[in-house]
Amino acid sequence: MEYMPPDVPGPESSFDDRGYWERCQQKRLSFQACSACGKCRHPPGPYCPHCGSDQVTWVEAPQVGELFSYTIIHHPAHEAVRGRVPYNVVIVAFPDLGVRVISNVVNAAPDELQFGMPLRLVWGNAGNGQAIPLFKKM
Ligand SMILES: [Zn+2]
Repeated sequence: MEYMPPDVPGPESSFDDRGYWERCQQKRLSFQACSACGKCRHPPGPYCPHCGSDQVTWVEAPQVGELFSYTIIHHPAHEAVRGRVPYNVVIVAFPDLGVRVISNVVNAAPDELQFGMPLRLVWGNAGNGQAIPLFKKM
């Protein structure tokens, strides 16, 4: 499943988020959790923003999150999306973990998005082959 055209640049992992993208490639949406205080964080980073520890484990996200916020893009800011507008960019919250992730809802028209609506995790691929977490309205 793809939401964006394949010419849209896909995510390139860095030292800090390599573990996140490797887990995504296995279709496991996972977040860093601090080994010291237990709190989750996203995006991935070298230190816990809550207690400063550099000890980390990973926890898998539930298969359902909720729509925290969204915007509808009407102006094609990249040549690759010239024929794709309008499209949505959403923030999906996982309240039990205290984290949010930026994504797209693949099956909702702009007027169907509602704050707090449940969204089911699905997987897509960016043009560079990286598996990316996407969401569907339920
Ligand atoms: Zn911590």
